[in-house]
Amino acid sequence: MPSKSTVGLYSCGPTVYSFPHLGHMRPYVLADTLRRALAWKGIEVRQVVNITDVGHAVADSDTGEDKLEVAAARELRSVEEVAAMYTRAFLEDMAAMNVQPADEYPRASAYVPEMIEFASRLEELGYTYLLPSGLYFDTSKSPGYGTLALMDIAGQREGERVELVEGRRHKSDFALWRPEEPGKRRVMRWESPWGWGAPGWHLECSVMSMLLLGDHFDIHTGGIDHRELHHVNEIAQSEAYLGDGQPWVRYWLHNEFLVIDSAKIAKSAGPVPRLADLVASGFHPMAYRLFLLGGHYRSQLDFTMAAVEAAQATLRRLVTRVEPLRPLPSVSTLAEAVTLAGDNPATKAYLDQIDAAISTDLATPRILATLQESLRDPALTESGQRLVVAAADALLGLRLGSLELREVEGRASVADLPADEVARIKALVAERTQARVAKNWSRADEIRTELEKLNVQVTDTPSGPVWELR
Ligand SMILES: [Zn+2]
Repeated sequence: MPSKSTVGLYSCGPTVYSFPHLGHMRPYVLADTLRRALAWKGIEVRQVVNITDVGHAVADSDTGEDKLEVAAARELRSVEEVAAMYTRAFLEDMAAMNVQPADEYPRASAYVPEMIEFASRLEELGYTYLLPSGLYFDTSKSPGYGTLALMDIAGQREGERVELVEGRRHKSDFALWRPEEPGKRRVMRWESPWGWGAPGWHLECSVMSMLLLGDHFDIHTGGIDHRELHHVNEIAQSEAYLGDGQPWVRYWLHNEFLVIDSAKIAKSAGPVPRLADLVASGFHPMAYRLFLLGGHYRSQLDFTMAAVEAAQATLRRLVTRVEPLRPLPSVSTLAEAVTLAGDNPATKAYLDQIDAAISTDLATPRILATLQESLRDPALTESGQRLVVAAADALLGLRLGSLELREVEGRASVADLPADEVARIKALVAERTQARVAKNWSRADEIRTELEKLNVQVTDTPSGPVWELR
């Protein structure tokens, strides 16, 4: 449990039944930016990200099969194998995106007894009713239901994600427990006062966040798609459970969607590119991070190849410009940066701009602009530039202190190179061979350097030189 001076941060995590796609990176880059912003202000953070490995029914609804079990049947694996594989894929993508690891990644399946206790308490308090399809939370008993999403409760939303359930009193009522359907034995099943079955999806976040961060905590983050259903339901059950009249969580931050061809990216919509697809196309994960940070988290962001190419070009320019300034000073807080700036007014002015930007609802596009401006500014000394880059990157997390140009460039495969570039490389390699035959070593070395700039590595073998991209 965090101490009083530590901010408790809960970020809704992945349902681990398929590979995360590009749209799934956005909520975690937001949460990571928030963590960096709080660290910048000298505030300690304890972050919990849940791993949903049970209870999430297909189509975010309350009924039907469990997403994990559907995936296990599809892939002819056990549910545990499916969960482990996609959890690993998620964590690998997070690391590639330079998202700092959470303090805890609780798995929902490890907290089912606590969820049963939580639901039992709600039952005792009179917030529930039992149907053959499950134990339901009666949202009409929750006075502030839907406030987070500014929902019109009288009209009871007719969202396509809310399916018809026999006997349900209000459309917004949701399942706390989903018993097995008669004759259909679940793979993941627990015994409960309401029969063998599994918890409803919303329950895990309330239960695990309270256990790991305390009954009330500071900040809850997630995608905008969670605001009107998942988060509203988390709040209703948590505040009913606590019954102390206090808001359960103080602040909520939601990131907007990543939009491809104006259609929301959802797993159900079909294959959407993954980070691995971008990398295979020659883009560096930091270029994708830069692309995400180039938009404000509360704005929809259009994913286009042109935009990611522009981000890759910006990253290349930044790294080219920053490499000669290294090593950068180690800076993670404003206070450290200000101390290092001494009484240099130009440097201080840039630090102020960066601080003002992050303090204005995490305005990362402004920090990027300030960073680029500082690198062009003749009024800034080299040590000033070094400090401004380090400060900006403490918030942006683009690995500007260590990312090498050849890493940024070296992702292409020969097959992706345009024909004229391949021809040029071949010509240089042939010229180098001739220079070596003529014992013109200096020319041969010159060409090798030139090839290195193109990320081409030449190795001399008994049957002649071979080359590859680094
Ligand atoms: Zn959640």
